[in-house]
Amino acid sequence: MEIRRPVILISNDDGIQAGGILALSEVARSFGDVIVVAPDSPQSAMGHAITITKPLRLYKEKLADGSLGYACNGTPADCVKLATGVLLKRNPDLVLSGINHGTNSSASTIYSGTLSAAREGAIQGIPAIGFSLCNYSDEADMTAAKEIVRTIIATALRQKFAAGQLLNVNIPNLPLEAIKGIKTTRQAAGRWVEEFDERTDPQGRKYYWLTGKFILQDDRDDSDEAALNQGFVSVTPLTHDLTHLEMFEVVNKWEFTA
Ligand code: MN
Repeated sequence: MEIRRPVILISNDDGIQAGGILALSEVARSFGDVIVVAPDSPQSAMGHAITITKPLRLYKEKLADGSLGYACNGTPADCVKLATGVLLKRNPDLVLSGINHGTNSSASTIYSGTLSAAREGAIQGIPAIGFSLCNYSDEADMTAAKEIVRTIIATALRQKFAAGQLLNVNIPNLPLEAIKGIKTTRQAAGRWVEEFDERTDPQGRKYYWLTGKFILQDDRDDSDEAALNQGFVSVTPLTHDLTHLEMFEVVNKWEFTA
């Protein structure tokens, strides 16, 4: 009996030439047949944006290791939609996104383009994992992250990780021997404050750079932030059904009158 290798779709939000997607595709190739479809330019913090007002284009592009992928002028979610709808014409067995250059914990889970690519897979009923390394540098060393990614993919495939399930994996920026282990976590409560740096252009008009400080509003020991701060890899199971189930019970008892 022939055992079919899994088809693994890979995307990201840092662009097809980022070091993180190269690292992820190198690891994934030992598990299955890999197709890389990624934005042709950085798309970080695009959230789950999709493109509906301009044409989308796909073109073949070589990654730094000489392997062939597809670059797309759209968002991370567009990449996954085009991959499943046009290139593969079927669902892959697994969607992987990253390895992002930078943390995607707490509120970043919402803004992240890395996670939107993975989430688009989950919406389409495909198991999906987003990977992020807590190092924002373009030149970040992916050596330890690759070993963690290998462990997570092997485990997920072995566990028969189910259709539509989504994991958010954040990897601390530490050498492998300094990483304490892997923890299952929940998304920490937190937000950004003092978000805008106000400046003045040469014409005297004000302009703004989005910046700010992250404020953690969560003291639970099982949050993603807590795990990362303690030197653990954080694995957060996510859902894309945003329904607030407790609030449902409350609102369901409201009498809607003017
Ligand atoms: Mn990014």
